[in-house]
Amino acid sequence: MMARIMIVEDNALNIKLFCDLLDAHGHETRGVTDSRGAMATAHEFAPDLVITDIQLPHIDGMELMRRLRADPELCRVPIMAVTAYAGEGDDERIREAGAQAYVSKPISVARFAAAVDALLEEGPLPAPDEDAEGTDDAAPPQARENGAASDPVPPATGKAGA
Ligand code: MN
Repeated sequence: MMARIMIVEDNALNIKLFCDLLDAHGHETRGVTDSRGAMATAHEFAPDLVITDIQLPHIDGMELMRRLRADPELCRVPIMAVTAYAGEGDDERIREAGAQAYVSKPISVARFAAAVDALLEEGPLPAPDEDAEGTDDAAPPQARENGAASDPVPPATGKAGA
């Protein structure tokens, strides 16, 4: 499926490679080499997917992902991170910062294309508030007006020292 994809990558050769690859798959691409312009470009371009390098001067990929996730208009856009260093624990940190997927450089064209297709297939992320509101509606009232029976004393778990 055709999509709008923004790529943030400070290396000119890599950004050309990514854009050419995605153009060849029929996508509309927008490359950003200076991450300081990434948020403004994202607002203007309204991408279906953001691909960002992690190692970027000025605003690194981790910080950029946090800003995207904190932006009310962009928080649902899936993010794929690209990194030259995938050490132990990086997967978790990158996902915590907001990425749905990451691939390591030098990229495998097949893996890169497959990861892009998978994220586009999944589409936008759920709105951050949906879950919380649903839970609130379904939850019983927190306290009753005459809460005599609503707070049973839990059974004692130990004989001494409680
Ligand atoms: Mn870089």
